[in-house]
Amino acid sequence: MINSKLPQVGTTIFSKMSALANQHGAINLSQGFPGFDVDDNLTTLVTKYLNEGKNQYAPMPGILELRITLANYLKRTYNCDISPEAEITITAGATQAIYNTISAVVNEGDEVILFSPAYDCYAPAIEVHGGTPVFIPLQHPDYSINWRAVKEQINPRTKMIMINSPHNPTGSLITESDLKQLKEIVSGTELLILSDEVYEHITFDGKKHESVLAYPELRKRAMVTYSFGKSLHVTGWKTGFCTGPDWLMKEFRKIHQYTVFSCNSPMQYAINEYILKHNPFEKTAEFYERKRDLFLASIKNSRFKVIPCQGTYFQLLDYSDISNMNDVEFAEKLTIENGIASIPISVFYPDLEDNKVLRFCFAKKDELLIKAGKLLCTI
Ligand code: PMP
Ligand code: GLN
Repeated sequence: MINSKLPQVGTTIFSKMSALANQHGAINLSQGFPGFDVDDNLTTLVTKYLNEGKNQYAPMPGILELRITLANYLKRTYNCDISPEAEITITAGATQAIYNTISAVVNEGDEVILFSPAYDCYAPAIEVHGGTPVFIPLQHPDYSINWRAVKEQINPRTKMIMINSPHNPTGSLITESDLKQLKEIVSGTELLILSDEVYEHITFDGKKHESVLAYPELRKRAMVTYSFGKSLHVTGWKTGFCTGPDWLMKEFRKIHQYTVFSCNSPMQYAINEYILKHNPFEKTAEFYERKRDLFLASIKNSRFKVIPCQGTYFQLLDYSDISNMNDVEFAEKLTIENGIASIPISVFYPDLEDNKVLRFCFAKKDELLIKAGKLLCTI
């Protein structure tokens, strides 16, 4: 027998809903992953590096060429000076970067502020390390941050504030005003920030991603996490990176070197050359905005109410005009009886707050989105 460190945790909603979709042959708009092929140029580069023998351990923080490319990219995009040697680490996806960061900074008794609905890997990592997640609800239905509530929660035990923009699961964005308020709260304190920016390239309607990296007062205390799974449409590669000031990255790497030591090396060489040659991030927002609009057009005549999506590849739909069922049951019913799988939002709240909202992933082929839209119009 062991004493479970996470007695309340079961299988994630993503695994559950994908399994239910497969079992019932439903269209799977639940778990977030692209349903289209990867760019041939990228897979060709992977093959090249596999054949060239780049098959042994990468250096612990990742191959330097890729870290230099990323530092240059971050400089161009957010006007921040980041040392590729000391301040970037390649990780096994953003999940590992988030876990390692929490592992490096959270001690028994520490509190970490996060916003609900919260992406599922945040709170368990805090709890495993003896910390307490302090949830502050985003304000339904625009899912904006109540900064007064944040201020009220800060006390001597507060170690870190976690933010996520573009936000999964709601598709909301943090604004310049949000970051200014965050800056006001943390200035003159030792509070840390973990900023999950995996959807940095996916913002819509002319809106720009606001990164903590653009604010020196935030950046000097922030670990920022990214995922090539999102930016290059390769979620199965589980490759990402993070950046943080050297003093924080030093502690991060102490954990990193004993959790994975280093990450998949041929992928790192391929990703580096691909970014340099093909400039892949430039068209991502436009690509997904068209898919969002196609999905929205295909459900125009449905009884679902649209909650505006400003970024990510997730669209929230409110079904309160259709049913009183709770969102978990309603999502299961849609999968089993109507052939379309989604994610219920209540599972991302500590108290399972149910606003009758489901999340649909539109990172899929156009035909599938149109087919899904038709099904949703019959409900
Ligand atoms: N953060 C958010 C908000 C995500 O949506 C995801 C994955 N969808 C991750 C982190 C994890 O990214 P990765 O797959 O690179 O571990
Ligand atoms: N991040 C993906 C989503 O939000 C799921 C990743 C996973 O299955 N853990 O749907």
